[in-house]
Amino acid sequence: MGEIFGVVTTSDVSENVGDILKAFFSPASVAVVGASRNEKGLGHTVLKNMLEMGFPGPIYPVNPKADGLLGLKVYPDLVSIPGPVDLVVVVVPQPLVAAVLRDAVAKGAKGAVIITAGFREVGPEGLAAEKEITRIAREGGMRILGPNILGIIDTKSRLNATFAAAQPEVGDIAFVSQSGALLTAILDWAVSEQVGFSKIVSLGNKADLSEIDMFRAFRQDPDSRVVVAYLEGVTNGSEFRKAATALTKKKPLVIVKSGGTAAGSRAVSSHTGSLAGSEAAYDAAFKQSGILRAATMQDLFDISLAFAYQPLPAGKRLAIVTNAGGPGILATDACERKGLQLASFAPETIARLREHLPRAASVYNPVDVIGDAQADRYQVAIDAALADPNVNSLLVLLTPQAMTEIEKTAEVVVRAGQNGSKPVLASFMGGEAVAPGLQILREGRVPNYTFPERAVEALVAMDRYREWQLTPEEQPVEMKVDREAAAEVIRRAREAGRTALGDLEARGVMEAYGLRLPGNKLATSANEAVQFAREIGYPVVMKIVSPDILHKSDAGGVRVGVQDDAEVLAAYKAIRANALRYKRDADVWGVAVQEMVKPGREVILGVTHDPQFGHLVMFGLGGIYVEVLKDVSFRVAPLTPSQAETMVHEIRSFPLLAGVRGQPPADLAAIVDALLRVSQLVTDFPEIIELDVNPLVVNPAGGGATAVDARIILTGENH
Ligand code: ADP
Ligand code: MG
Repeated sequence: MGEIFGVVTTSDVSENVGDILKAFFSPASVAVVGASRNEKGLGHTVLKNMLEMGFPGPIYPVNPKADGLLGLKVYPDLVSIPGPVDLVVVVVPQPLVAAVLRDAVAKGAKGAVIITAGFREVGPEGLAAEKEITRIAREGGMRILGPNILGIIDTKSRLNATFAAAQPEVGDIAFVSQSGALLTAILDWAVSEQVGFSKIVSLGNKADLSEIDMFRAFRQDPDSRVVVAYLEGVTNGSEFRKAATALTKKKPLVIVKSGGTAAGSRAVSSHTGSLAGSEAAYDAAFKQSGILRAATMQDLFDISLAFAYQPLPAGKRLAIVTNAGGPGILATDACERKGLQLASFAPETIARLREHLPRAASVYNPVDVIGDAQADRYQVAIDAALADPNVNSLLVLLTPQAMTEIEKTAEVVVRAGQNGSKPVLASFMGGEAVAPGLQILREGRVPNYTFPERAVEALVAMDRYREWQLTPEEQPVEMKVDREAAAEVIRRAREAGRTALGDLEARGVMEAYGLRLPGNKLATSANEAVQFAREIGYPVVMKIVSPDILHKSDAGGVRVGVQDDAEVLAAYKAIRANALRYKRDADVWGVAVQEMVKPGREVILGVTHDPQFGHLVMFGLGGIYVEVLKDVSFRVAPLTPSQAETMVHEIRSFPLLAGVRGQPPADLAAIVDALLRVSQLVTDFPEIIELDVNPLVVNPAGGGATAVDARIILTGENH
């Protein structure tokens, strides 16, 4: 898609992606500034890596104190280099970086890989230096990777501008890492495991280029089948989501996001605030962008190898072939726990297996070819399973028993793995005995997992990704609301110097946004309360109304099921007295007399504001246990209808809403509607930084839902 009517679509936010790809990953020439004779120095290692990787273009070492290095002519500075320089790798001490970048700009370089450390990460002075070099680059039209990085590798163009000790093999995985040290470990591991990479990028301080640019670049990179990243944080949540979404529509993106404690130090005054940390925001944003979040580095590679080596499954139905019962059961359990299905074989498959396998074998899924099986028996089972139309993927398990032909069986699995349409994964369990088999599997691009559960995890990730690719792009819907009325309530609260809107004011906003509310009147005397109660009709609910009391029940400020005039009089007095006992100088506006809504299931809707991703909408079961059980789901606003629906289905206690023990299902459509309205509200009013509807009382299907208590917190600043 190109530009349509001047609207920039996600696919072309790629400003100059082609330039970045070219400048950093396939430059025609490279200069290494700070290349040194000292064999232990980083500059030396970088130059050596460039040479050893076999970079085909000219490599220019720059060092005013050397004539020749590793057989190359050395230049005193960038400007003395005779030919053009596309990429400059900077390994000089920090105070010299700015001058080098000025030269690089003068030389017309397109990009600089700044390995040098000592910038933002060391404090204010470093930060100032980083800003300075960023400015030089920006003004000179040159892009920067780093500073403070391990470097960059492209196995295809034979570029290795890193000081890593290991040279990775060519592969299909593009790897982005915010930690350089971690990269060195991964590289070392990858060499021993023979895991190949297309591109490896260390992001470091992200002074200019970030994961966002890399996602855009890798999306267009034919050499990268899967993109993996280790991130500590993102800097621009909405651009990150856009770039990730565009990428994941084309290829899988698996991320380990480390660290993360609760967002900010601002005291949280709402239920949602205490439940939503920045991790919840990352989880939600990742889900909404089709990113697969790996919990550990191990998971990251377990999953990415499956994507790199095998095709996507067309469905959830897995076949298992094993030579032992136990592992088959483990795999089956994992499969069921994680939402995959065990395929049920077609009659022809069963007949075929029965004909060729010994009587003791199990011809149903999991197929047990039993302990004495040799490669031929595996062959029969694998061929039959893969040919079955009910099978979408295959997992081959092997335990090294006396008769097991490990290498031959591995060869059978490799041939199966090249069928091209159904993914084949293996779990050859053991150590030394299975090692020769593992080597064959690796070379044959069948991912092997030490234990079956890990293989299932990888298949689950593939299945999720398949579902994501099938998800149609959906836009948030515009509900009909009275925006002006809501704005007016907010304006008045601000004029009165308040940023916390209790139920009485919040309900004005909610009503304007089309949520259903109970009838409500504010009484300022006991007699007035009686009059209102009669108008509303018994029984009623009575609640304290005070800007100083946020949690009304805690203050003895709520009475439900008030039956008659006498009870209203008593409740009025008691509620006021309780409130003043709770907070002596509380500013009490009165007591709200409220329509008592039909009992239903109580849920909570909430919103918080995340510094990276913006408004985060929360859903969960209401009541006193919500904070203990943390059974809540999150999405970044604005929500689309199907996102709102998944949020509702996602909580563990969803069955309680669907109806258990003869209970009718709750009005799920009404919950979704309320979520969408709340989402639209906070999107229209970015100054709302927290919001709770607690509870929303949900009636059985068709009966709707009523917001009986709401609270809104505005930003401190006036907008
Ligand atoms: P708070 O959360 O400040 O303590 P609420 O207004 O949420 O006060 O009231 C506490 C509880 O009382 C609610 O969770 C709900 O169970 C019940 N309740 C409140 N208002 C109504 C109402 N109008 N109809 C029925 N039940 C209500
Ligand atoms: Mg409440």
